[in-house]
Amino acid sequence: MSTLKKLLACSALVFAASGAAAQPLPAYDLLLRGGHVIDAKNHIDAVMDVAIKDGRIAKVAPGLSPGDAIKAIDVRGMIVTPGLIDLHTHNYTGTGERGSYAGDLSVLPDGFTFRTGVTTVIDAGCAGWRNFEDFKDRVIDRSKTRILAMLNIVGSGMRGGRYEQNTFDMDGEATAKMALRYPGLIIGVKSAHFNGPEWTPNEQAVIAGTKANIPVMVDFGADRPTRPLYDLLTKKLRPGDIYTHMYSGLRQEQDPATLGPSKGFIDGRARGIYFDAGTGGGSFKFSLAVPMIQQGFKPDSLSTDLHVDSMNSATKDILNVASKFMAIGLTLQEVVADMTAHPAHEIRHDELGNLSVGSVADVAVLSIQKGRFGFTDMVNTKVDGTQKLVAELTLKDGKIVYDLNGLEALPWNAPQGDISQDKRWTSFPRPVPRPTDGVTLH
Ligand SMILES: [Zn+2]
Repeated sequence: MSTLKKLLACSALVFAASGAAAQPLPAYDLLLRGGHVIDAKNHIDAVMDVAIKDGRIAKVAPGLSPGDAIKAIDVRGMIVTPGLIDLHTHNYTGTGERGSYAGDLSVLPDGFTFRTGVTTVIDAGCAGWRNFEDFKDRVIDRSKTRILAMLNIVGSGMRGGRYEQNTFDMDGEATAKMALRYPGLIIGVKSAHFNGPEWTPNEQAVIAGTKANIPVMVDFGADRPTRPLYDLLTKKLRPGDIYTHMYSGLRQEQDPATLGPSKGFIDGRARGIYFDAGTGGGSFKFSLAVPMIQQGFKPDSLSTDLHVDSMNSATKDILNVASKFMAIGLTLQEVVADMTAHPAHEIRHDELGNLSVGSVADVAVLSIQKGRFGFTDMVNTKVDGTQKLVAELTLKDGKIVYDLNGLEALPWNAPQGDISQDKRWTSFPRPVPRPTDGVTLH
């Protein structure tokens, strides 16, 4: 064959091959149709369609055509929000250490996140600079959930009193050095559970946070007259730092006369301190939350403080927390913002927690159940409610990772259509038939 003929034959082959694959893909991989979209960052609170392409939000608008997507799912009557962010969880498990948040008291996030619409968790200080890389290897790198971490100011992390009360292991410099090794993954510094009279953990945490340019979150431990809450919120912390367990009542959060927020809370908020729910196992009381919310002191963010005890007691999960706050006066729009754009902003990752075009397509589709529900607190008192949020569908990086009621699936005895592009929009692709399928074997 002459060179020219070879070239022609070759180009004909290329042409034929590209012709065979020339079926253009629709403009979008996935379309969520007709849901009530709540996207606080973009001030959207309306019925809209959400289109996704290549793991990113492609368009949010009413009346998009289902023919423009590989897969279209009807979510009318449901609420569509950015994937939820749980600002306070405990995930450093698997070490085998008993009775420790760097061990048995923590939970693997994938077992608890997607089923509640959560796509991002922030581990609140289970590991310090000494054991962060072990945590990363054991849990963070193996999880489907996006895990960001606050480094404990204690080098050994949350391994219990012997470690967490040791002021000699609270090293702001070493903590900052580890945080700077993993920018974007270590997104904060945590000070927690300290019972001593000194300011050491808070001061060292601020040193670390300042050097690494990340916020500090404080669980203020025991209430000590030598380190009053007022001074923490008005002098020690920086604007943009975070006070968690805001409705615990353990440390002068509440003004005893008005039952509203204490002066420290009021002046702290005025300075730019953020206040996080972190309801946990023993950190939320209606006797604080109800009057404080009635007087206008609402949370900046909702979070669970999820661990093996809180998830089985009053907290349960983030949607139970959100439903509880709706029962005591927050609106649906407020609780959604407090689980999306607000926590993203607190950790200075405003690229998360919204549905802006080009954002990573983490999405939660929620329904509101109506009925008789009850919500409890740390002292086992109760508030009744009439509505409860339930996660119907969760998307991570543009793919379905949880589908409570089979919204995406077709009836088993219906034609399944083209399955070749399933992997573009779901982590549950329908199986490609094997060559032997349909053949009777003897
Ligand atoms: Zn905690």
